[in-house]
Amino acid sequence: MNKMPKHTRSQLPILACECGAELLVLPDITEMYRAITSHAEKHQLTELDPHKAEAISKRIQNLLLDQLREKTRSRELHESVSKRFKSPRLP
Ligand SMILES: [Zn+2]
Repeated sequence: MNKMPKHTRSQLPILACECGAELLVLPDITEMYRAITSHAEKHQLTELDPHKAEAISKRIQNLLLDQLREKTRSRELHESVSKRFKSPRLP
């Protein structure tokens, strides 16, 4: 009954992980970086193979970063995100 409409929900400043976790978008890039990497590490813990674990971590980071870029209008933040993460998917 109290379900929020989808369009309202997508306006909230959060990053939604594929596991269902939601990360609040923070104005501080360092804090945001910590939140994303620590969440990616949680995914990594479920995989015993270190190569696969690293791939999982990278995939989760990229997933969240893509959303962060979409939600980030500030050019300054966008650039610091890009530098910090050195994502191979950068334009
Ligand atoms: Zn997750």
